[in-house]
Amino acid sequence: MDRPAFPPLPRRWVVTGASRGIGRAIAERALAAGDRVCLVARSDSIAAEALALGDRAMGIAADVSDPSQVQNCCARVAAEWGGIDVLVNSAGLHRGGRVESFAIEDWDATLATNLSGPLHVVRSALPHMGKGGSIVNVGAVVGFRGFSGDSCYGASKAGLAGLTNVLAAELARRGIRVNLVVPGFVMTEMTSGISKKAREAIVAKVPLGRMGEAEEIAEACFWVAGSTYMTGSTVFTDGGLMCGL
Ligand code: NAP
Repeated sequence: MDRPAFPPLPRRWVVTGASRGIGRAIAERALAAGDRVCLVARSDSIAAEALALGDRAMGIAADVSDPSQVQNCCARVAAEWGGIDVLVNSAGLHRGGRVESFAIEDWDATLATNLSGPLHVVRSALPHMGKGGSIVNVGAVVGFRGFSGDSCYGASKAGLAGLTNVLAAELARRGIRVNLVVPGFVMTEMTSGISKKAREAIVAKVPLGRMGEAEEIAEACFWVAGSTYMTGSTVFTDGGLMCGL
C-alpha cells in the first residue's frame, strides 16, 4: 500500500463538542496551526462564537445524537470547503449513578451522545473524506477501568474504544486513520460539579499529582491526527492515571 500524506495546510477539520472544554481547545489548536475548523455543538451561539475565532473557522449547531443533523452539518462543510480531512469526536456528556438507581433515560442519553454520536458523525463525514484523512475519537479512562457509579459513561466510552479499533481496521485501505485519545481528569465544565473532596481523591491517584488542562489534551489530539503511521492506537494523556490506579 502507498503512504498517504497528511494533507497540507490548511486542513479541513470538523470538531464536535467545540463550544467549550476539550473540543474548543482542539479547535483552537488546529486554527493556531493555520487549519480550517468547523466547530460543532448543540448551542445556536456556536456560529457566532466561531466567527469570533477568525475567517478559517465556522460554527454549525448540530446534535450528534441526531443522524440527520450531523449529515447536514458534514454536507455543509464539504460544500463550503470541498471535503473533510480531520474529524474529532469530542462531544460528550457524563451521567453518573449506581447500577440499581440511575435512570434508564441517563443510560440512553449517554450512549446516544458518546457512542452512537461518533458513529453518526463518522458515517456522515466519510463520503467527504479521502486518502490521508484522520479521525480522532476522545475516550475516557473509565472505558478501561471500573469506577463505581459510572456504568453509563464507562459503557459508552468502552464502546467507543471498540468502535475505534474496528473503524481503524476497516478504513485503513482507504488511507483513513482512526485513533483514540484518552484524557485523564481534566478541568472543564464536565468536571466542575465534582466536590472538592471527590476531586482530591481522584487527583491523589494521578501520579503527576494534578488535573490536566484542556490544552494538554488538544496538543495530543493534534499530534495524533497528523501521525501518519498510527491507526487503531489508544493514546493516554492522563497524568499517569492508568498506571497509578
Ligand atoms: P464539556 O466541557 O462538558 O464539553 C462537552 C461538549 O460537548 C460541549 O461543547 C457540548 O456543547 C458538547 N455536546 C454535548 N452533547 C452534545 C450533543 N448531543 N451534540 C453535540 N454536542 C454536544 O466536556 P469536556 O470535558 O470538554 O469533554 C470533552 C470530551 O472529553 C468528552 O467526550 C468527554 O467524555 C471526554 N473526557 C473528558 C474528561 C474530563 O475530565 N473533562 C475526561 C475524560 C474524557 P453543547 O452543550 O453546546 O452541545
